[in-house]
Amino acid sequence: MRIHNVLPSAALSDPGREYRASEPDVPLRCCLRKSLADEPVWLFRYSPPFGKGPYSEVGPVFTHVECAGAPSLDRLPVELLNNTRILRSYNAAGQIVDGEVVEPGSFDRVIEGLFNDPSIEAVQVRSLSHGCFYFGVTRA
Ligand SMILES: [Zn+2]
Repeated sequence: MRIHNVLPSAALSDPGREYRASEPDVPLRCCLRKSLADEPVWLFRYSPPFGKGPYSEVGPVFTHVECAGAPSLDRLPVELLNNTRILRSYNAAGQIVDGEVVEPGSFDRVIEGLFNDPSIEAVQVRSLSHGCFYFGVTRA
């Protein structure tokens, strides 16, 4: 699988972005881990890939202001998968195929199962409580 993160430069397209000098323990979409104290971050509006047309959504995400730690993009980031998540799958037209609540420890198996369906092009991993986009997954 291939993981799709969000680069900090994406913040520059949102004039309403907010700078936070310290915002510990928020999920960073750049390096796909939780933030530490005193790490400057952006909070901004972001439209995740894969949803198109009416299925294109905008929501809040955090990234570092300057990210020094590139994540591994060929395996799931464990630090953002230590809680129940929603896996939302999309077809090539960018329409939602399905949504599934997934528990920690099951992500690899469930994503592999989703990609056994040839109609599924991509998966968004989202927060269960807030629905926020964390990262995307496609076939390698
Ligand atoms: Zn980062």
